[in-house]
Amino acid sequence: MSRSIEWGPAQLMRMFRGSSGRISVTKFSSQYCEIKSIFDSLRPPAITPAMKAGTEMHQVLEESVMGPPVEFTEEAAMEFSAEDAHALRLGDVVSRWRHLVDTSKAREISVYGTIRGIQLKGVIDEAAIDEKSRIHLVDTKTYAGDLAVYKQRLAYHQLLVYYELMGQMIKGKVDIDQLAHEKAKKCDFLVPLHRDIQAAWGYGTLQEMMDGWKDSLNKLSSGSMAEEVRADFIDRRNHNTDQIEFKHDVDTAEQLFAFRSELLSGQRPPLPLSRSVGSCRFCPHFADCSERQH
Ligand code: SF4
Repeated sequence: MSRSIEWGPAQLMRMFRGSSGRISVTKFSSQYCEIKSIFDSLRPPAITPAMKAGTEMHQVLEESVMGPPVEFTEEAAMEFSAEDAHALRLGDVVSRWRHLVDTSKAREISVYGTIRGIQLKGVIDEAAIDEKSRIHLVDTKTYAGDLAVYKQRLAYHQLLVYYELMGQMIKGKVDIDQLAHEKAKKCDFLVPLHRDIQAAWGYGTLQEMMDGWKDSLNKLSSGSMAEEVRADFIDRRNHNTDQIEFKHDVDTAEQLFAFRSELLSGQRPPLPLSRSVGSCRFCPHFADCSERQH
């Protein structure tokens, strides 16, 4: 890596954190090259056609489970207050949890939690509840064909983090009041929301939305996490090309959490790309990286 870039814990946390102050699960469980993930945070890579196709595929899958997305007219948007603007974000999150409770399946579910003192956030591709009230997690990868070991390991590691965060959510370890009030410092939670927002999600106020979220979590709290987690690898035509089932493993999860938190707390430097994973020659940061090796 360029010697002009520093990677002390304060810089790392700043680079990786979003505006919410939390690190995303994707960044926390990244396995490809830790130095590249720092470069990417400093200089976000351009959206490639493959990334765009992947996003579109996620949208197709989402609509197949969740139905068409909620949309509002321009006229309504012109009338939105600060509370309505916040309700757009919160309503989307809360409605997915409610969908999971009501239909036993949902996609793109936001989860939050803390691992080794690091605040995290993520979006689980899919969760489904079986007849024994166990929650099964699925991570969808929109690439197929070349399932290199590191790609499988990345999917597994992400699922381990999602498993932990989902467990914290349903066991009441996450402060929902704090989450709901994030970015809403000037909002009055008792002010009636715009009629179109009320019609779309059925909540009259932000307070009702927040209470609805808690109610969904409360209903899930009597269930448990299924040990089996799954990664679906699909191609761009939505053909399920591979499904790999893993088992949750406490020891592996703890090793992963320790390894990643060591980096983020400054106990070890970021690692370069391993030769077994790939070649630096294809990295967009090749020219700037003093750690490039092969
Ligand atoms: S050149 Fe190699 S070591 Fe450097 S960021 Fe890219 S992949 Fe990582």
